[in-house]
Amino acid sequence: MKIDLRSDTVTRPTLEMQRAMWAAEVGDDVLGDDPTVNALQEKAAKLFGMEDALFCPSGTMTNQLAIRVHTQPGSDVICDKYSHIYLYEGGGIMLNALSSVKLLEGDRGRISAKQVAEAISPENDIHSTLTRLVSLENTMNKGGGCYYDFAEIRAIRKVCDEKNIPLHLDGARLFNALVETRESTLQYGQTFDSISICLSKGLGCPVGSLLLGTKEVINKARRFRKVMGGGWRQAGFLAAAGIYALDHHVDRLKEDHQRAREIGAMFFSKPEIEEVFPVDTNIVIVRLAPGLSEADYVKKLADAGVYAVAFGKGLVRFVTHLDFTDSHLEEMRKVIARF
Ligand SMILES: *Cc1c(COP(=O)(O)O)cnc(C)c1O
Repeated sequence: MKIDLRSDTVTRPTLEMQRAMWAAEVGDDVLGDDPTVNALQEKAAKLFGMEDALFCPSGTMTNQLAIRVHTQPGSDVICDKYSHIYLYEGGGIMLNALSSVKLLEGDRGRISAKQVAEAISPENDIHSTLTRLVSLENTMNKGGGCYYDFAEIRAIRKVCDEKNIPLHLDGARLFNALVETRESTLQYGQTFDSISICLSKGLGCPVGSLLLGTKEVINKARRFRKVMGGGWRQAGFLAAAGIYALDHHVDRLKEDHQRAREIGAMFFSKPEIEEVFPVDTNIVIVRLAPGLSEADYVKKLADAGVYAVAFGKGLVRFVTHLDFTDSHLEEMRKVIARF
């Protein structure tokens, strides 16, 4: 049995999702008349109480479009030093937006209002970049899937309002946070100027992300998406998967979190594991005992049928998802017990 926990992106569309995809009515989205893409965008915008939404091929694209729209060349973006937008998007802030970063050292990737206030560049100093965006990530991938206290997000919003700086959310796994905190999509929609959510992660779609924002932000983003080659014709087949996922795959994320907690527990008191990060959602990160190589450990796991990823020095990451069932969990328990 292959147990694939490399990422929550590895899922295959369920039969019901495939049926929804094949039944989709499609048009040409570049011409704006794919009814299923339009329906997904309207549904998502309404869900978050935001004016408009844009369906895109990836979360990298939705983040990069937001950064491009909010900044101008020579700006800086304030974010945590472990942010996906900085670490895992190929230097896009520099390449797409000709902008720099102010990297903060957060608590497992979560930055505070005080840190943001201190990092904002002075408006009248010609030596400095101009801060044009603050970007948060929730849940935080590098932080092991931890989530923000909403009071802190509100405080960051207040700092941004005082300085007239927009606030973006990389919410690739926002729904994982929402099912734990019972916060609403609407309160997030009210607080951020733009939000990126991934349909291809825990929600189980084959591909796709959404950018949410005002009509003005989305209209600009649609232009840049075309420039990047992201105009995608009969994308309604994929949008249908997104509609299906928003209707059927959100509440079940709790199951992924429960299984992740059980995986975390498997590594407690193992001599080769120094630390198991707190498991808050669907990500489990373990720190190996000093001297052990993460590459060797990942190889050893793969030889036993469990696929994970090396996640920095001494760290290994496991992510639970729709295709990881209780029988996979029990099989993994046996594998880890033998280690
Ligand atoms: C996966 C992910 C993204 C987007 O990744 P794509 O592979 O480009 O869809 C963005 N931010 C975070 C935190 C992610 O985990």
